[in-house]
Amino acid sequence: MNTSGDNGLSRRTLLGITAGAAATTLATAGTASAAVPAAGSRRAADPKATDLTAGQAWRKLVRGNDRFVDGRQKHPHESLEWRESLVEGQHPFAVVLGCADSRVTPELVFDEGLGDLFVIRSAGEVLDTAVIGSIEYAVEHLSVPLIVVLGHESCGAVSATVDVVRNGTEVNGDISTLVRAIEPAVRATPADSDADAYLAACVAEQARRSGQYLQERSSIIRDAVAHDGVTVVAATYELAGGKVARL
Ligand SMILES: [Zn+2]
Repeated sequence: MNTSGDNGLSRRTLLGITAGAAATTLATAGTASAAVPAAGSRRAADPKATDLTAGQAWRKLVRGNDRFVDGRQKHPHESLEWRESLVEGQHPFAVVLGCADSRVTPELVFDEGLGDLFVIRSAGEVLDTAVIGSIEYAVEHLSVPLIVVLGHESCGAVSATVDVVRNGTEVNGDISTLVRAIEPAVRATPADSDADAYLAACVAEQARRSGQYLQERSSIIRDAVAHDGVTVVAATYELAGGKVARL
């Protein structure tokens, strides 16, 4: 795994935004949000936030995924009463950054319900400033202890990038933005004559890189990991079996 400075979602290109433009955006946001607590002060956030540790949150996800795999889901937190109780606020115990793929719905895959997961989805788990800001909000203001980056088997976004890199296929519109963001992960993955195994390795690399880049790009997330016990986990999802495996 390439852990060098040019880690895939490079500083040069973040969804096509130059580093300078991204920095300007963030600087503007910072100026306009003087009331936002400084990084590291997230424990001063909502006192009703989950009291689960990152490890406990991960084990809760694993138990839910086990139920999903076995077809014995509880479908928790879907009742009218629960729904009404959430009007006062949300206290999710995990962030899930997943692919937009319709077959990989985090609440179903982990057998959780309303208010349990703070979910952000983009094709191939590609990060941009809006995605990163959304995750920062969950960490900073909702005190969520766990961030899961969830790739999946047969990811179309990663597969399209493989086609571009290996076969020179062209893609249209802003799909090219996704491809550019995923391309470093594909290029860093050793060739494999088994196409399915190669794609799976590229998917895993992309999930790992997104998790790493989150921490490199965001001081809020980096500080929360260093000082507040927040954990970033990369994982992949198997379509037929429904199993989530930690990378
Ligand atoms: Zn996908």
